[in-house]
Amino acid sequence: MEINRVSPERVANEHYELIIIGSGFGSTFFLNEAVKHLSGRALVIEWGDHYPWATQVRERRNSDIPHASTYENLGDKPWNMTIALGGGMNCWFSQALRLHPKDFHMKTLYGVSNDWPVDYEALEPYYCQAETIMSISGDPAMASILPRSMPFPQPPHKGTTVDEMMKAIMPDRHFIVPTGRASVANDQRGVCCANATCYQCPVNAKFTAENGFPTLFAHPKVDVCVRSEVKSLDYQGDTITAAVFESNGRQYKVHGDMFVLGANAIQAPAILLRSDIVYGETALNLHEQIGADVEVYLDNLASMNGSTISTGLNYHFYDGDFRSERSASIVTFENRWPHGLRPEPDKWHHLLPLSIVSEDLPSLNNRVTVDPGSGQAVVHHAGPSEYGRKGLDYVIDNLDELLAGIPVESVHFRRWRATESHLQGTLRMGVNGDGSVIGHSLLHHQKRNLVVVGSASFPTCSPSNPSLTVAALSIRAAELLYGKGALA
Ligand SMILES: Cc1cc2nc3c(=O)[nH]c(=O)nc-3n(C[C@H](O)[C@H](O)[C@H](O)COP(=O)(O)OP(=O)(O)OC[C@H]3O[C@@H](n4cnc5c(N)ncnc54)[C@H](O)[C@@H]3O)c2cc1C
Ligand code: SF4
Repeated sequence: MEINRVSPERVANEHYELIIIGSGFGSTFFLNEAVKHLSGRALVIEWGDHYPWATQVRERRNSDIPHASTYENLGDKPWNMTIALGGGMNCWFSQALRLHPKDFHMKTLYGVSNDWPVDYEALEPYYCQAETIMSISGDPAMASILPRSMPFPQPPHKGTTVDEMMKAIMPDRHFIVPTGRASVANDQRGVCCANATCYQCPVNAKFTAENGFPTLFAHPKVDVCVRSEVKSLDYQGDTITAAVFESNGRQYKVHGDMFVLGANAIQAPAILLRSDIVYGETALNLHEQIGADVEVYLDNLASMNGSTISTGLNYHFYDGDFRSERSASIVTFENRWPHGLRPEPDKWHHLLPLSIVSEDLPSLNNRVTVDPGSGQAVVHHAGPSEYGRKGLDYVIDNLDELLAGIPVESVHFRRWRATESHLQGTLRMGVNGDGSVIGHSLLHHQKRNLVVVGSASFPTCSPSNPSLTVAALSIRAAELLYGKGALA
């Protein structure tokens, strides 16, 4: 991937029409839409370096900056991300789920958490656009619960024998997983061959910034300043005027008309705290899903024969009135063996690994602060809510409901997962005055030229993976701000 690399010295004290902080999902999908409408230039300021795919595979790492060195963690839970050009598009596993229509109305329907200021219908065309850019492969039958106005760009992966049985038993609850792991090769990507090291895909099958946006960072209107950490924003009244960043131990300042804050959900609030821009629940509500792994030994049934690492997605425990008391859960039917294969002769593949993922509740106690001495982001997280654990426990206790139609020899609980690698919620969207920080178009409530993109914007958790929604929200925000002339 070519990039228009510029040095910090060259951009220092310059003025850009658009300044984008970070280059992950939120930032890049925003830039890709915004650049069509710019008359001036855009600058991307990225903390990490450009770490090309080939280097990542060779060195077996996504970045030379260990992510845990970028914040201090006062809790037990790890928080994973990539600090490099492309952010989470480097390391993600490419599970590309839409949220469920009911996920957007948790307060109204179930009396818990928050409502989103957008709904599924408003986001649906943008989900389609994001899926097209990522060339998502998916199961057309999913439209029965997640309505869609366009077919998936790629056909679904081949499910396992168990998936075929489950689809016959639960045709409107069991689907082949939607994913950016290609089922069909294109100019940029190979076909997924299910070898299960997706954080560094050796055959370049999953969607990444490099294969999905091969020319964006070399666009004639885009400059990219890597190895530059944004520390704070300057403002006058309701207007952001400049970004202050550090590179190689030196501080620089660059001015702009419009600012997009797309650092991750730990760093973005830290930047606002260091800038003394605190409005609503800034830096509070850090959350993500909670999960557990279970293995099912199948009774004389060979499976593990799908065409990608996770093949089945089951919505049996996803939605219902129970969400007023316990969390929704999604169950992924795996085609990989995180706990090894079965040891018995001829039974290695008589196996069904399951990942159970449940939503958690955002809490004001789980938050980001900054160290007063060093200015580093500090994460405080006291653990999952009782609501979250109740839903997860319910699924584990009631798996026989789900597995009733397949031959089960035994079920084995394997582990609570420490993290789902989805940081969310520290600058949540909502209606001005309800504690939220940004509105439905991702514009900050108080600063008129500041857009916050990325999973920091999530007002609730949902059991579904976040990144497709991050991408869809960014495309919508850029279109509302530029394409429809809202800023004029
Ligand atoms: C191992 C792993 C697997 C995952 N798998 C999936 C999956 O299968 N499906 C899914 O939906 N999600 C997955 N995720 C989550 C996904 O990566 C995130 O949801 C997504 O990246 C969030 O987008 P974002 O724009 O908020 O942040 P990011 O994509 O993390 O982007 C933030 C960017 O900001 C940069 N940055 C941070 N601070 C600064 C600063 N101060 N100055 C300048 N730049 C800065 C970072 O380097 C990065 O480029 C996975 C995550 C991990 C770690
Ligand atoms: S399963 Fe293998 S081929 Fe498919 S995306 Fe993951 S690493 Fe790449």
